[in-house]
Amino acid sequence: MSRWQSGISKKAKSAELITQRRRKKTMVRNVKFVEPAKVYRMIKDELDAVYFEVMSKGDLIDREQLRSFEKNLADFVGTKYAVGLNSGYDALHMSLLAAGIGLGDEVIVPAHTFVATCSAVVNVGAKPVLVDVGKDFNINVDLIEEAITENTKGIIPVHLSGYMADMPRIMEIAEKYNLAVVEDACQSLGSSIAESPKLRTKSKKKMAGSWGLTGCWSFYPFKILGGYGDGGAITTDAPDVALFVTRMRYNGEDRNAGEYHGHGFTCLLDNLQAAFLDVKLKHLPDWIARRKQIAERYRAALSNIPDILLPHYDRPGFDHIYQNYTVRAKQGNEFSEYLKKNGIEILTQFRKPYYKHEALGLEDRGFSETESLSREVCSLPMNVEITDEEVKYVIETVRRFYGKF
Ligand SMILES: *Cc1c(COP(=O)(O)O)cnc(C)c1O
Repeated sequence: MSRWQSGISKKAKSAELITQRRRKKTMVRNVKFVEPAKVYRMIKDELDAVYFEVMSKGDLIDREQLRSFEKNLADFVGTKYAVGLNSGYDALHMSLLAAGIGLGDEVIVPAHTFVATCSAVVNVGAKPVLVDVGKDFNINVDLIEEAITENTKGIIPVHLSGYMADMPRIMEIAEKYNLAVVEDACQSLGSSIAESPKLRTKSKKKMAGSWGLTGCWSFYPFKILGGYGDGGAITTDAPDVALFVTRMRYNGEDRNAGEYHGHGFTCLLDNLQAAFLDVKLKHLPDWIARRKQIAERYRAALSNIPDILLPHYDRPGFDHIYQNYTVRAKQGNEFSEYLKKNGIEILTQFRKPYYKHEALGLEDRGFSETESLSREVCSLPMNVEITDEEVKYVIETVRRFYGKF
């Protein structure tokens, strides 16, 4: 204790402490959902270095930075190939084309997902067949078989928020009905399922994006591996699929021979983005560990509140990397508005399910789980840049809403 502090009377000191405490309690802070500029500051030197390298060499399209990132991504996911694209949507679109899915075909998609999963199906001329989800926000595997018809050619399981759909069961069903499996893994880079949870010692992790014909990735800035603009990729073990997508992303051209192999698209991952993503990919394992730590903190502090369901599922072998920490609050908007009013940025994806948007022309067959969760979802701040103090504030605010201090 410094000299001047020791001079303050005991009474004044305790009064001071009380006002400090009060101020702390009522102070509305601002906790951001994501803070990209802060992440930039965390790894500025590395990002600046590759920026200057790319710019000074003029390496803008399809250069070594793209190939390096593709190799590292494929290694990370555990596939033979990765092909960089312009977005997660493009990854889905290219995958369906590669699987030969088109007019007259049906593709099974979950009723609760980002709209792009479904739009890719519509845009290749096929019909999306929606299936309700389960308590873990992923497609309910018990409802898949009844949605299969003689026209069903594919299924797009979505691994939402960082937790994988039941791939062992889905692969079984796909094999039985001869369906192409396109994994929408846009929210689950780094997640996995142990291949044989019963044999824990021998079990090997099989990563998201390595189960189906392709894994589809998005590097949209706020994804777990986010670029500085749009970006995406597919991962695959099939050489013909990798070759097809490599050509189609660049107007159908075989760049060595100069031959066009079909009417393609312009959806190549930018070289500069690839260079940034390659830097960030190295940090991903540490960043995932940090996310799990934050999730554990939320779990420990909030699991005794009966009115919120937390995204923790004790399913052996299933990993969760917490791209999002989405809780279900019985009080729906009242809960999410309270957090916002207290300066906490949250996400309520999606209050209105995509199939209820009239212009999309989709059939609403009534999806009860999707309906009820869409009233309740609220994603709490979950990112690598958040401080422990901020996490504490979020926890306190949630507990205050429920009258628990
Ligand atoms: C982000 C996302 C997409 C689309 O990715 P873009 O890069 O924005 O096109 C598709 N599916 C899911 C589940 C996503 O989260």
